[in-house]
Amino acid sequence: MSDTFDVVVIGGGPAGYPAAIRAAQNKLSVACVDEWKNYDGSTAFGGTCLNAGCIPSKALLESSELLHRAQHEFKAHGIKVGAVDFDLGAMQKRKSTIVRQSTQGILALFKTAGVTPLQGHGRLLPGRKVEFTAHDGTTRTLQAKHVVLASGSQPMELRSAPFDGKHIIDSWGALELDAVPKRLGVIGAGVIGLELGSVWRRLGAEVVVLEALPDFLPMADGAVSKEALKHFRKLGLDVRLGAKVSGAAVKGGAVEVAYTDAKGEQSLTVDKLVVAIGRRPYTKDLLAEGTGVELDERGFIKVDDHCRTGAENVWAVGDCVRGPMLAHKGKEEGVAVGDAIAGLYAEVNYKTIPSVIYTAPEIAWVGQTEEQVKASGRAYKVGQFPFAASGRARAMEASAGFCKLVAAADSDEILGVHVIGPMAGELIAEAVLAMEYSASSEDLQRTIHAHPTLSEALHEAALAADKRAIDFPNR
Ligand code: FAD
Ligand code: NAD
Repeated sequence: MSDTFDVVVIGGGPAGYPAAIRAAQNKLSVACVDEWKNYDGSTAFGGTCLNAGCIPSKALLESSELLHRAQHEFKAHGIKVGAVDFDLGAMQKRKSTIVRQSTQGILALFKTAGVTPLQGHGRLLPGRKVEFTAHDGTTRTLQAKHVVLASGSQPMELRSAPFDGKHIIDSWGALELDAVPKRLGVIGAGVIGLELGSVWRRLGAEVVVLEALPDFLPMADGAVSKEALKHFRKLGLDVRLGAKVSGAAVKGGAVEVAYTDAKGEQSLTVDKLVVAIGRRPYTKDLLAEGTGVELDERGFIKVDDHCRTGAENVWAVGDCVRGPMLAHKGKEEGVAVGDAIAGLYAEVNYKTIPSVIYTAPEIAWVGQTEEQVKASGRAYKVGQFPFAASGRARAMEASAGFCKLVAAADSDEILGVHVIGPMAGELIAEAVLAMEYSASSEDLQRTIHAHPTLSEALHEAALAADKRAIDFPNR
């Protein structure tokens, strides 16, 4: 096998593997190096997203939501099922099957595209050489014209509550539990805390979420955060804001957590503690001396707007570089770099990266929040439409939440769209497309939406921005 490639990608997660595939589609010779190992020692492409993030979490969210609906909604539909029970082992098995299908799918995609998969560690040496150490310890030096770094991220550890892998666990550990903990503590009311907190709450755990900030979901639109907190509390998530953890100790098989909040010193005893306070870029043993690739003060690989590092023809994409840590952001960067290397036009529109929180109700947004627009001083208008006024949402027994659109008062440009409600993550795609094509709110108003669909809520929100909504009173 040749050790010379046009492109060597280090990292086979959702940023690295699309870079490899796109470069190969552009008729370049490509190798993708990935060192991922699962708990059982098996290797797999797909990185955090496929093995321990997006995919397994969504599998468990779906199963636990179905259970919750069976327990709480079937009756409203007139469906009698008797006592509803579940088998966690079967749920976890289903999740693992989905993960395996997804990760094996990448190998199949590599085969079709002509990407050489190399499983083991990659280390960039000066002169675009990559030292590859296979899992069996054998080493080769690859020579590349271009190198793409896509080494991803890892969970942040809390010094006062270090991971022990058994009682104090990270998000991956929280996805692999083989029994429902009676009491689950979660540190961090971010995306992971809310998604995994919801999973285990629906499966029966008492869940307490400790969040250091006084505000809930501050990155979301204020109206959405307020509505979301109401629903999470209704589900039974005990979200405690302004809670600063000072220590956690394992005693007698339980975790005793000490924290302070506005009322003073508090304590909490749980069976498992998930620490989900964010992730940090992962670049361990990635860069040899003298490569010219620099890290910033937070450990991210420094890149320009086109993902170029300071070293010639060395690129970096995904969680290891600035920007939101999202799989689709990494994918767009990977694809753009795969094109740029081949001399094709490539650009990532960082203004239209959607965010989705896959809870019930689901939360999704793109663009600026109302608070951000207000702070910018720009004159704006807002249209909001509740799912309670949507026939389809009511038919789905999912009428919680709303769709909100923020547009510029002068130009009518859509500045942000915020959805909390059924299928929000799917609905946001229309808003992303609209913003990508610089659509105005009027363009959305004049676009025909099938009836009865959830997408009518976005249509009506756009109409409401001009006080022209049909299915809800304009105020
Ligand atoms: P990673 O996916 O981390 O992949 C990096 C790969 O590079 C890994 O396989 C790693 O082993 C390998 N690697 C690192 N260094 C080397 C080296 N030197 N040599 C060889 N290989 C190396 N995002 C979403 O958009 N939607 C979601 O629903 C979502 N859910 C999530 C749920 C959870 C629980 C978590 C933890 C994350 C979730 N994310 C989600 C975030 C998403 O997983 C990340 O943004 C995404 O995986 C980043 O992709 P990446 O390719 O940059 O890095
Ligand atoms: P996050 O940044 O979403 O949330 C972390 C939360 O922890 C924040 O609210 C923060 O204020 C809080 N926090 C920080 N330090 C704390 C402390 N000492 N005590 C209490 N609270 C503290 O991070 P995450 O939930 O760990 O997720 C990591 C990354 O994974 C995120 O960037 C996210 O985008 C990505 N992710 C995305 C999805 C999705 O797209 N649906 C799902 C899961 C994870």
